[in-house]
Amino acid sequence: MTDAKAVSAGPISAAPGTRSAGLVPIDVGEGRLVEVPVMVINGASPGPRVAVTAGIHGAEYVSIAALREVARDLDPATMRGAVVAVLTANPAAFAARSIYVNPLDGRNLNRVFPGDTGGTASERIARWITDNVIGGSDVFVDMHCGDMNEALVSFTGIEEIGDPEVDARTRALAEAYGLRYLLIGPSPGMTTGAAAALGIPAILGEVGGQGRWPAEDVALHAAGFRRLLKAASVIDDAPDSPRFETEVLHTEAWMRSTTTGYWHPAVAVGDRVTAGSLVGTVLDPFGRTLESPVAPMDGVVIFLVTSLAMNAGDPLLALAG
Ligand SMILES: [Zn+2]
Repeated sequence: MTDAKAVSAGPISAAPGTRSAGLVPIDVGEGRLVEVPVMVINGASPGPRVAVTAGIHGAEYVSIAALREVARDLDPATMRGAVVAVLTANPAAFAARSIYVNPLDGRNLNRVFPGDTGGTASERIARWITDNVIGGSDVFVDMHCGDMNEALVSFTGIEEIGDPEVDARTRALAEAYGLRYLLIGPSPGMTTGAAAALGIPAILGEVGGQGRWPAEDVALHAAGFRRLLKAASVIDDAPDSPRFETEVLHTEAWMRSTTTGYWHPAVAVGDRVTAGSLVGTVLDPFGRTLESPVAPMDGVVIFLVTSLAMNAGDPLLALAG
């Protein structure tokens, strides 16, 4: 709970009833800095501190656009508690339109949490976020979408830590977000895993992808985050919940290519597939089949790589069941 006092994330500090925003320089080693845009919106009344990040993956535009929209619209005069928002967590990846990795070190920022102050660029950004944004919060939200080369179904993801009170609160907040699927499973190296290790309810939100940021996807992501803020008692008004039931899925299988070539999926995102069924083919430049991967389990295609270019070791798709 904040006690109607100043709330800070590193050098960005907001008095009760105000917002503050700026670029935070983070030393990423070798004499380099990245400037991370941060906004702190501090309610006039006490309440929970909600930390939120977008752009951990720099080419996930729906999440970046949605968080900026919500953060700008929040009215600190009527809020309880505070929202600490990292608007674009991986600015070098954003500038480079880089999929998966931070170009400063070739690492996936969402695999190096909680980070390391003496590590690579990504590890240092992760550590700053863990210490200044996630740490000390009552709720943590990480907004993502499919990467530049990925389509996905809308879903939230949570991890159960074995504390019934925290797990119930996390589940309720994820359900408030109101997306089509809720995936429950561990998230090692991820922002949400770092938050869970600190006993903080943590929710991953995923809407849209493929390097686009259509208004309807931005609105869906923004509405989900607003509903979460309402469920956390930070704000009073949020869009109504969607009419569909959220489906809970527990097991997730990432399928990866073992060859480098040309990817022709045989399934669409959202399809239900059965174990042993063909999900696509990887061809060589002349059209000969290099591999014909089959589903390892029954499940829903949660995300699907949509680029023709495929590299050995890269994801093809993920299933959840
Ligand atoms: Zn992502």
